[in-house]
Amino acid sequence: MIDFSLTEAQLELQQRARRFAQEYMIPYAHYYDRTGEFPRPIIRKAWEMGLMNLSIPREHGGPGLGVLEQCIVVEEMAAGCAGMTTSIYVNSLGAEPILIAGNTEQKEKYLRPLTEDLKFISFACSEPGMGSDVAGIQTRVKKEGSHYVINGSKFWITNAPHADYFAVFATLDPSLRHKGLCAFIVEADWPGVKVGRPVEKMGHRASTTSSVMFRDVKVPIDNLLGQEGEGFRIAMQTFALTRPAIAAFATGLARAAMEYAREYVNKRKAFGQKLRDFQAIQFKLAEMYVKIEASRLLYMKASWEADRSGRSTVLASIAKAFATDAAMWVASEAVQIHGGYGYIDQYPIEKLFRDAKLYQIYEGTSEIQRLILGRHVLDAYEPAMKKPPRWYNEKPPDFD
Ligand SMILES: Cc1cc2nc3c(=O)[nH]c(=O)nc-3n(C[C@H](O)[C@H](O)[C@H](O)COP(=O)(O)OP(=O)(O)OC[C@H]3O[C@@H](n4cnc5c(N)ncnc54)[C@H](O)[C@@H]3O)c2cc1C
Repeated sequence: MIDFSLTEAQLELQQRARRFAQEYMIPYAHYYDRTGEFPRPIIRKAWEMGLMNLSIPREHGGPGLGVLEQCIVVEEMAAGCAGMTTSIYVNSLGAEPILIAGNTEQKEKYLRPLTEDLKFISFACSEPGMGSDVAGIQTRVKKEGSHYVINGSKFWITNAPHADYFAVFATLDPSLRHKGLCAFIVEADWPGVKVGRPVEKMGHRASTTSSVMFRDVKVPIDNLLGQEGEGFRIAMQTFALTRPAIAAFATGLARAAMEYAREYVNKRKAFGQKLRDFQAIQFKLAEMYVKIEASRLLYMKASWEADRSGRSTVLASIAKAFATDAAMWVASEAVQIHGGYGYIDQYPIEKLFRDAKLYQIYEGTSEIQRLILGRHVLDAYEPAMKKPPRWYNEKPPDFD
C-alpha cells in the first residue's frame, strides 16, 4: 500500500515550521519586502528553532534530515514569506556540494560551524554571462604549487554579502566545457574575494542577491571538492537534491495565495452577493486546489527518490517545472480574485505574485527543466510497452 502520511517526527517538524511562519514571518514580511533589508533577526530565530541547516549529518552537528523533511519545512515557511525562506534555505544549497563531494575533514571544518553559530554559506555558480549553461562557466582556476588560484566573477549569489563561505564553481579551461569544471570551498574573508552591492529585485526582497568577484584568490588544495573535473557532476547532483525543495517553496506560496483568496471571497460582495457564490470563482479556487495538491505529491515523490537513491534528477525537474508554473498561475488568479485590491500593497497578494516569478527562474529555469525532461523522454525513458506502438486494424477472433 502506498502511504502518504507523515511520521510523528515529521508532523512535529511541520507544526514547528508553521508556528515559526505565523509568529515570526508573516507579521514582518511586509516590512522586509518594502525595505529590502536582510531579515537577520528572523533567520536567527529559524536557526534557534532548529529550522535551518537540516541536511547536515548528526556526526557534524546537524539534525541529519532528508530532502522530504526539508521540503516539509520549506512549504510551511514559503507560505509565510518566500524571500525570508530563500535566505534561510540557501545554506542547504551552499552546503550540498560539500555533502556530496566533501571529505570528512572538509565537512567537519565547514559544516559544523553552521550548526554552532548563525553562519552563512552561499552557492556561487551563475555568472554575469551565463546561468542556464553551467558548462559555460568562465571563472578560471589554475593550479600553482600547493594551491589553486581563482579569477572571475559570479552574479546573482544569494546571501553573498553575509556569507562566511562560498561553494564556488570554476573551470580549468572553458573549452573543456563540463569536463573542465571544479568545485571549491572559498572563505569570504580570503584576500581577493569581493562582494558587490545587493541588486534591487522585483520579489524575494527579503533575500539579498549580489555579485562576487575573485581576483587571484589563493585556495588551498585541501579545499577542492572531489576531484578536478568533477564540478559539473557535483552541481547537477546538487540540483537533483535541492530542486524538490523549490517545488515545495512554490507549493507553500500557492497554498498561501489560495488561502488569502478563500478568505477574501467570503467577505467581498459584487452584484449583491458574496464572491464565493459565483460559480466562476468556485472554479478558480477548485483549480488552485488541484494544482497545489498535485504540486505537493510531485515534490513528495521527488524527495522520496532523492532520499532513497539520490538519483532524483528527472523527478526533481518534473516537480519543479509543474509546481513553479502552478504557483505563478495560482498567484495570478489570486490577484484576479482580489480585483483592484490584488494590485496594491494593502493586501499580501501582489507580493506573492512578484515572489512566485523567481521560482520559474532560479535553480534552473522552467525551460531548462523541460530540456532535461525532453532529453529523458527521448533518450533514457523506457517505454512501458516493449513492442513499438503501431496502429492496427484487425478484426478480433472469437476469444472464447
Ligand atoms: C534572485 C535570484 C537569486 C539567485 N540565486 C543564485 C545563487 O544563489 N547562486 C547561483 O549560482 N545562481 C543564482 N541565481 C541565478 C539563477 O540560477 C539564474 O538566473 C538562472 O539559472 C537563469 O540563468 P540566466 O539568468 O543567466 O538566464 P539565461 O541562461 O541567459 O536564460 C535566459 C532565458 O533563455 C532560456 N534558455 C536558456 N537556455 C535555453 C535552452 N537551451 N533552451 C531553451 N531556453 C533556454 C532560459 O530558460 C531563460 O528563459 C539567482 C537568480 C536570481 C534572479
